[in-house]
Amino acid sequence: MPPMPDEHPIDAHARETPATAPQAFDFRKHGHAMVDWIADYLEGIERFPVQPAVEPGWVRAQLPRSPPDAGEPWERIAADVDRVIVPAITHWQHPGFFGYFPANASGPSILGELLSAGLGVQGMLWSTSPACTELETHVMDWMCGMLGLPAHFMSTGPGGGVIQDTASSATLCAVVAARERATGFAGSGGGLQAADGTGTLVAYASADAHSSIEKDLRIAGIGAANLRLVPVRADRSMDPGAFASMVRDDVRAGRRPFLCVAAVGTTSTHAVDPVRALAETCAAHGIWLHVDAAHLGIAALCQEFRAIHDGVDLADSYCTNPHKWMLVNFDCDAFWVRDRATLVRALSVLPEYLRNAATEGGKVIDYRDWQVPLGRRFRALKLWFTIRHFGKRGLQDLVRRHVALADDLRARVAAEPSLESVCPTPWSLVCLRHRDGDAATQAIIDRVNASGTAFVSHTKVDGRLVLRVSIGAPAVAARHVDALWELIRGAR
Ligand SMILES: *Cc1c(COP(=O)(O)O)cnc(C)c1O
Repeated sequence: MPPMPDEHPIDAHARETPATAPQAFDFRKHGHAMVDWIADYLEGIERFPVQPAVEPGWVRAQLPRSPPDAGEPWERIAADVDRVIVPAITHWQHPGFFGYFPANASGPSILGELLSAGLGVQGMLWSTSPACTELETHVMDWMCGMLGLPAHFMSTGPGGGVIQDTASSATLCAVVAARERATGFAGSGGGLQAADGTGTLVAYASADAHSSIEKDLRIAGIGAANLRLVPVRADRSMDPGAFASMVRDDVRAGRRPFLCVAAVGTTSTHAVDPVRALAETCAAHGIWLHVDAAHLGIAALCQEFRAIHDGVDLADSYCTNPHKWMLVNFDCDAFWVRDRATLVRALSVLPEYLRNAATEGGKVIDYRDWQVPLGRRFRALKLWFTIRHFGKRGLQDLVRRHVALADDLRARVAAEPSLESVCPTPWSLVCLRHRDGDAATQAIIDRVNASGTAFVSHTKVDGRLVLRVSIGAPAVAARHVDALWELIRGAR
């Protein structure tokens, strides 16, 4: 049969020397050039405007309609990074990036990411790459100590830590483990009962909880309607009295409270829910307590900020993101559970094709049972490189430097009659607004973001617009915060 029009025959030479074999691409040369490119980019990042000025569709308009038929020279591909990609990048590593939350990266972490890609391993089971599993267990135990987390989260006790892609996924695992514990592992046995009003599972989080909580509850079949948003106090932290009374009401109505997600550092304002007080109610009703410390948790690297973890020793699970504030590039969420058996029972399925002696022997961790996907990347490398290069002290210095810059900014806001601080916290996030109202606050945001030298984002607190300054870029220094301040007060 003649080949179909889009087929081309494989000749004898191609069978012997595949074009996809490593030696058929000059990886050494192009790799060195790419590393140089990244180094130049990071060193010269301040020459770019923080936010790109492209219209929707601009990137796609630069690209050909169809992929190339024959392979292209690498030089042409690499040149398109400058032509098409860079003009449409938000420069998260820019020292003038004060938006959302930091997504800081570092040289050691980037090399860990590169090495992970180069090794190309799948760490789903211990046996599919022992180093991938054991290094992860080891650095997660390190992290547990570095953050002052309870010893029962260590792999040497009944708990353990695992790297997830994001806090959203970590919380989803907590939701599923909590659901299974509350239903006698019905999800893995007889299936969930229809939510007919009796025995319905209900979850709780503060009105300021991250959107991922609702999303996770929807994914896990609990449903957004069964998420109770607990009122917050003046500082935007969850009201533990309101939580306790909502739980009592639900129990009285025949519902089954099964999960409370406490935020240590809400996304809007970094409010810290009273974990210890919430834990009391959770203990009385068998409610799984999960702590979402995605951004702020990293502050606990420093002894003087450890108070944010008060009560975490009573939690069932906890997560924080080294990919936000610990110089590990996205993605890297650190998730711990108090009792790994519950998590593993909730998520474990063992098909025949994954059976192996190490797993049957029970002496190893198979992290596929600790997460949603089967496959997993070797993320521990970038965490290991980062911790070893900077040391505990280097990472503590980073946090302290950012907090000191935030303190300076808070002091300036306090001294400026036209501005007011909103829900002030003593860490790296500064929330403020103009006393004249939303239009005046919006004008400040617009002025800052039109400058190209700084970028801030916003939130709403009690229905009023708030400007958020999140300090956490790797290279941010006093002069960048000074420049931002000049923009905020309209001096430039
Ligand atoms: C950033 C953040 C999240 C979401 O983090 P992902 O890792 O992107 O899922 C959740 N909760 C809080 C408190 C956050 O700050």
